[in-house]
Amino acid sequence: MDDAINGLLRPKGIAIVGASDTPGKIGHTVVKKLIEGGYEDGIYPVNPKADEILGLKVYKSVLDIPGRVDAAAITVPAKFVYDVAKECGEKGVKGLIIITSGFSEVGEVELEEQIVDLAHSYGMRILGPNVVGTLSNTDKLNASFAPFLPLKGSASLVSQSGALLIAMDAITYTRRIGFDKMISIGNMSDLNFADMVNYLDNDDNTKCLTLYIEGLKDGRRFIDESRQASKPIVVLKSGVSEHGAAAAASHTGSLAGATKVYSAAFNQAGVIQATDLNDLFDCTLALSLQPPMRGENLLVITNGGGVGVLATDSAEQANVPLKFAPKDVQEELKLHMPAFGSAKNPVDLTGMADTDWYHDTVNFAFTHDWVDALVVLYCETAMTNPMEIAQSIYKAISETGIKDKPVTVSFVGGERCEEAMQWLVEHDIPAYNAPDLAVKAMGTLHDFARLQEVKGDTSYENKQADSKAAREIIAKVRSDGRTALTEIESKRIFKAYGLPVVSTELATSEDKAIKLAEANGYPVVLKIVSPDILHKSDAGGVKVNLKDEASVRAAYQEILKNAKAYKADADVHGIAVQHMAPWATEIIIGSINDATFGPTVMFGLGGIFVEVLKDVTFRVAPISKAEAAAMLDEIKSSPILDGVRGETARDKAALADVLAKYAFMVADLTDEVKESDANPVLVYEKGNGVMVVDARIILKDK
Ligand code: ADP
Ligand code: MG
Repeated sequence: MDDAINGLLRPKGIAIVGASDTPGKIGHTVVKKLIEGGYEDGIYPVNPKADEILGLKVYKSVLDIPGRVDAAAITVPAKFVYDVAKECGEKGVKGLIIITSGFSEVGEVELEEQIVDLAHSYGMRILGPNVVGTLSNTDKLNASFAPFLPLKGSASLVSQSGALLIAMDAITYTRRIGFDKMISIGNMSDLNFADMVNYLDNDDNTKCLTLYIEGLKDGRRFIDESRQASKPIVVLKSGVSEHGAAAAASHTGSLAGATKVYSAAFNQAGVIQATDLNDLFDCTLALSLQPPMRGENLLVITNGGGVGVLATDSAEQANVPLKFAPKDVQEELKLHMPAFGSAKNPVDLTGMADTDWYHDTVNFAFTHDWVDALVVLYCETAMTNPMEIAQSIYKAISETGIKDKPVTVSFVGGERCEEAMQWLVEHDIPAYNAPDLAVKAMGTLHDFARLQEVKGDTSYENKQADSKAAREIIAKVRSDGRTALTEIESKRIFKAYGLPVVSTELATSEDKAIKLAEANGYPVVLKIVSPDILHKSDAGGVKVNLKDEASVRAAYQEILKNAKAYKADADVHGIAVQHMAPWATEIIIGSINDATFGPTVMFGLGGIFVEVLKDVTFRVAPISKAEAAAMLDEIKSSPILDGVRGETARDKAALADVLAKYAFMVADLTDEVKESDANPVLVYEKGNGVMVVDARIILKDK
């Protein structure tokens, strides 16, 4: 664990530089909140013009403080922060909590960078600037202007929005969701989300990491740290709509990347994505209190048919569909319900269910091997007391001593149900006021288990890759002063990474074209080769299915004529003669160099509808073969690859292999390649492989 970060977030001794005696000022509020929070390791207000604030001795400078000071909360105006940071460095402070705003978020980038450099030269780390502060229940530390420490618990929050942190702090009490730490991350000039994931994963008092993200600064490090983390991470990413992205940019000065790329990256990193603020809390509640759902068998126990049906519907949506329990389980359950109850799944104890029935069925079911997870539902009835039902459920669960199976609960009813659910949450059982939420929470615990498996697979080496050969081709293109590669050059690079490309040779005369066609055998395809014509068909630069010498000669002349008409000054290298690949399912593979995550691959079904349907999926490169295979199943039109309406299944194994090799290529060449695509790639019947018929690579400007 990083000692400086630990000193910042769990300090022994804290200075408040810019402390004030004037109520309402931030420099006053922070001192007040530290006192109210009960922090015991030394609160040191610093202000050259005051003697006492809220009963505490005030120091003229950090250097005058006699004792140990690990952290300094800085509230002085931006222009004084540099000098204050220097004094903190001299004093041996470990971390700066820069609450002051007016830095990169308003364009003052240089000042912010200077302060970071200075801090690093002293071995200090920085939270912020532009933060609310940091809170820790374990340390009774409220080093912020948030009103109070959150409800005690085992989740920890990192928020890029200060206002939202304060709001969530208050919500912890109404929703009864406990947190240990709440960290405002601000401009992330130094410490960012990747650092926080690393720190909190190693923090004994944190069981679940809850993140509110507007935009990541170092996306790849975030993925790497999250992949390595063993604790659940749940994130709410804002700025998903175009309008939202603009708001996020002006808010923190960071650029929000494309939603699809973020989603892909979170998935790869094993991070759970919440859909909204309520969902973020719902997920946090389940993930901080319960173990992952490892198997596939979810049993629902209810006293009402209606909520049972609602639960069944949401179980499908949450990827934990209900199956009937085996006969022996059903028979045992029948002993604890009236004859008109149902022992299938959901198990319906009927409205007559009392505390004993709940206790006995829950206790039996939770113990049974077939049951991997349990959702218990209750509808308020006239003859039962919700609190007693809650207590009997808790008793039934805890008597089993089982700690590796998850349980969630929903009580549907009025105030008495609310109280009962609060009691359950206080006893570590996540409770929700609607059956679908309890099931969705179980789905989240199931997702967590599945994501753990995905992120464990990091086998994306490609031993066949000839990086050197690829870089020689790129060097040649650069020496021509170009960034666009021709199809022939692009295909050579693809080949260097083991991608199956259709054989393609350059002809600079009609006779050469005939020779190449004969060597290949008819039919062939002729295409224009020019770095100035990237969309060859648009320029009339592609002629397919040429079956004899005459048609090759005609096509040769026509392509040259078309190219001239399309772009008179185009630099034409010649005409490519290609093997005519038999028709098959067309797919597209492409790559971009994302501002946040770097090389990112895309996969989708090709053909003329790709632009319209936008049925594509992304991954940050490189990817394992397993991840590549998962991509194939992610798009809506994936059944086409499995064979629909009597068509035979396509060669998905070969396609996954190509996708992984492609991702390896763009990751390996990330310093050079800006974007690329293989459009189309033809996918043949199972066992017959795939073929890249068109290739494009655009280099970064240098
Ligand atoms: P561009 O995308 O630059 O217009 P392509 O090389 O993709 O040019 O060619 C256009 C279309 O011609 C392809 O989508 C494909 O259907 C077909 N085609 C191109 N090359 C071949 C080939 N070697 N074998 C079979 N079909 C081909
Ligand atoms: Mg093409």
